[in-house]
Amino acid sequence: MIQRIPGVRGAQAYLHHSREGLAVIDPGYTGSFRAVCRFVEQQGLGGIDWVILTHHHIDHAGTALALCQATGARLAVHQADAPYLQPRRPKERMTLWGLADRLPSGLARFVVTCAGRAARLLEDGETIAGLTVVHGPGHTPGSIGLLSESESALFLGDILNNERGIRTPPWNVNHSHQGAMRAPQRLELLRYERAYFGHGPAILAGADQTVRAFLTLRKTAAALAG
Ligand SMILES: [Zn+2]
Ligand SMILES: [Zn+2]
Repeated sequence: MIQRIPGVRGAQAYLHHSREGLAVIDPGYTGSFRAVCRFVEQQGLGGIDWVILTHHHIDHAGTALALCQATGARLAVHQADAPYLQPRRPKERMTLWGLADRLPSGLARFVVTCAGRAARLLEDGETIAGLTVVHGPGHTPGSIGLLSESESALFLGDILNNERGIRTPPWNVNHSHQGAMRAPQRLELLRYERAYFGHGPAILAGADQTVRAFLTLRKTAAALAG
């Protein structure tokens, strides 16, 4: 079972239920945890086992710690993004080059996420709560997609968005723009019926073909441009 969680600010939050556990993927911007808790309670599926982040950005991860604290769920993030959830995180564009760490804490929590406690560190190819990790670094070093075999679905985080058709993320939000342009190629061989994006509507049928068509078109355009 996959459901988009309503009332969450920032990126789209999803609930994924499988025999291997109940997971919230990207619970959203700071302050969204009540909306997530309410929705999960209404489903009557029991407690959340895992809060899984496709990457560390605040619009996906802002409410992760509050959600874990409120529910007892454990946090999971790719190991390359884990340093960004700690105080003294790497300085880069999305942390305002380190300035965010010097803001008053009330303000800082709207700019950076601080998990402040041990997360499960994910690696490419491993499985968590019935979801297989597909590492696609670039947008952030630890950006991942999550492939659900039981649902034939791929969660793309920000590897690609579907806001105005399928697109790669714009250069000004990428840790490595070159990497972010390359990352979607990782998805080319995957088979899935449905695609769920961090931003933009889901594709509910033939999603892998739609994504492959986008990748092929991009390659052709790049070849033509020489
Ligand atoms: Zn995002
Ligand atoms: Zn992002």
